[in-house]
Amino acid sequence: MNRKMPLREKYLRLTRDLDWEPSYRSREEIYPQMAFEGIRVTDWDRWEDPFRMTIDAYWKLQAEKERRLYAVIDAFAQNNGHLTLSDARYLSAVKLFLTGITPGEYNAHRGFAMAGRQFAGAGTRAACQIQAVDELRHAQTQIHAMSHYNKYFNGMNDFTHSNERIWYLSVPKSFFQDALSAGPFEYVVAICFSFEYVLTNLIFMPFMSGAAYNGDMATVTFGFSAQSDEARHMTLGLEVIKFLLEQHPDNVPIIQGWIDKWFWRGYRVLTLVAAMMDYMLPKRVMSWAEAWEMYFEQSGAALFEDLARYGIRMPKYWEHTVSGKHHISHQAWNALYNYGFAAAFHTWVPGDDELDWLSKKYPESFDRYYRPTLEWKRRQQVQGRRFINPVLPTLCQICQVPMIFTEPDDPTTICVRTSVYRDERYTFCSDGCKDIFDHEPEKYVQAWMPTHQVNMGHCGGTTIDEVLAWYHIDGQRDGMDYEGSEDQRHWKEWTGSGKKDGEAA
Ligand code: FE
Ligand code: ZN
Repeated sequence: MNRKMPLREKYLRLTRDLDWEPSYRSREEIYPQMAFEGIRVTDWDRWEDPFRMTIDAYWKLQAEKERRLYAVIDAFAQNNGHLTLSDARYLSAVKLFLTGITPGEYNAHRGFAMAGRQFAGAGTRAACQIQAVDELRHAQTQIHAMSHYNKYFNGMNDFTHSNERIWYLSVPKSFFQDALSAGPFEYVVAICFSFEYVLTNLIFMPFMSGAAYNGDMATVTFGFSAQSDEARHMTLGLEVIKFLLEQHPDNVPIIQGWIDKWFWRGYRVLTLVAAMMDYMLPKRVMSWAEAWEMYFEQSGAALFEDLARYGIRMPKYWEHTVSGKHHISHQAWNALYNYGFAAAFHTWVPGDDELDWLSKKYPESFDRYYRPTLEWKRRQQVQGRRFINPVLPTLCQICQVPMIFTEPDDPTTICVRTSVYRDERYTFCSDGCKDIFDHEPEKYVQAWMPTHQVNMGHCGGTTIDEVLAWYHIDGQRDGMDYEGSEDQRHWKEWTGSGKKDGEAA
């Protein structure tokens, strides 16, 4: 090929010009999922790949990133990098990431491969193919980076098994599988736009800066290596949405419905991130409420102002997320603490300095609704009566979070919504989740609900011990309190450290 050829020309020659018009099969036969979602595409060539990346250039770029990343990961392992952490309590965040988010990356890889196969436009197929490989790379590099911690700490030894079975991991798992089992257009709106563009900053920013603050160089390194991929995914997310909105006016209401749905689905998954930011990081970056203000209320509002010219408005129920930001991290941590016997990471009552930090960051809610409960739990713990909740909670049929959230305008009342479908009653945590169900009940009546499955005897048996064995969790070793755990004992031996800030007295 002529080396002097302009870049755009070269890109077209090496990508979509390789496409051809089929002659012995119809396009409908080749791309059977193009019609059923109701999305109309009149001109696939209007798809503009914002990166004009050829496969050849992609491999070279990624290979270079891999070389650098693995050099740092090796050095980290050889230098006992785990000993530079702020405190071993920090690892609860890593455990949640590895068991909850990393398998999500893998599922995103599957989703892009499946969606890419279905799109009738060559440019879109190529973009999906590249993102499928990116997501596979993210899963792999996260597994490799965190494998070092697995040699020294508990709770990470069987993370794929965990993701398939443990109750709280069905929250992120069901999110990705809901997207995977949708049509290709919904899939890209869900993952490329609602997740990557609107919400991904709220996962990566706090995790990566939290990792940096807490001395976790393994996570920081893969975070940096993934960052340029993420920037590409976000640009692609915006391209996807604008392309679909410009193709046909009939697409607008369908896409608005998907934005409403996937914004709410994503927001519920972020509950785990909120708990991580406010409770799991020994050295905190910013509060969940501050992150939500910065990354959604400010950047998100500007984005939706920009999309107004296409007839797109803010996601439905976004106001509920604004009142909820004062509450969800505390509600989630309380639930994780109460069910700590069935978790593969440790929980604790924050130390006094940490409670003071939360009081300062949450002046409207913490002292009034949450601090007294946590202080009560600490008193119980000191008296040898560590509180647990042995009753299996009802889960929301959509987001699969237990019914822990409160009414948008009343933090003293648990929010419960129900719908009856074919004589069965289903329960939801919010108006957002109820709407999703009512729109597609046939899909969600099939959901695999962890506590309901336990009650039906499908999870190893009828006792807690049998269920934990089925989860591959050692309840005493992997879960419950950090105080007195094997992780804590090892940490003290290896670092020679005595009492750290925040440990229960
Ligand atoms: Fe990714
Ligand atoms: Zn819900």
